Amino acid sequence: MLYSYNNTFEKTMEYLKTIWDIIFPKKCISCGREGQYLCEDCLSLVPINPFKYCLCEKMEKRNKCEQCKNKYLDKILSATSFNNKIVKDAIYKLKYGYIEDLSIPLSFLVLSHLKTIDCQINNDFILIPVPMYIKKKKKRGFNQSEEIAKLISELTGIKISTSLIKTKGTKPQMELNRKERIENIKNCFAITDKKEVENKTILLLDDVYTTGTTMNECAKILKENGAKEVWGLSVAREIELG
Ligand SMILES: [Zn+2]
Ligand SMILES: [Zn+2]
Repeated sequence: MLYSYNNTFEKTMEYLKTIWDIIFPKKCISCGREGQYLCEDCLSLVPINPFKYCLCEKMEKRNKCEQCKNKYLDKILSATSFNNKIVKDAIYKLKYGYIEDLSIPLSFLVLSHLKTIDCQINNDFILIPVPMYIKKKKKRGFNQSEEIAKLISELTGIKISTSLIKTKGTKPQMELNRKERIENIKNCFAITDKKEVENKTILLLDDVYTTGTTMNECAKILKENGAKEVWGLSVAREIELG
């Protein structure tokens, strides 16, 4: 009989995880009910954004306004509002509370949005998560955007590429003003395999879209490497959804 070390390792991990779940049961971050980190009832309360906005958020448009014409991103799609408490909590707890499982409901929100706006996706599309600097990713243990992208890829069949990498560490964008953000993130990204992005429409995935500085810088390098279009796709953005 073949002895599979991997199999044994996986079984052991599964066993340990079960024990862990008994001692520390998963609780919904919103209502506290046991079972999941975000229960289906609370998830269903999150409004899905039915609009496609311009990058500047000024108007609901398919095309960019005069002000945004020179930006590298072609579209920006955001699944829901960052002003929603459940969404905000889920993103914070995923990133800073290290609850990796929260990437599951968040990827569901992204898929619901794509369905709501009737986004037509074909073989020319590729998913690319906004990368994290390797040291930061090691510290956190995972890149939240990559985890969400992996789930979306698994569920839709859209291919994922990790050929976009971040080549240096930067200060958190949240602490900086607009001008500082642009300087902070400049020339921080690189492409490892040009073939993966050439002539593709890139769905560039991030958890939150704030000023778009990071995504725009990513889009710049993707375009320089032959990407046909770059669409920013975020879980959340500070928009009003009523
Ligand atoms: Zn709940
Ligand atoms: Zn605009």
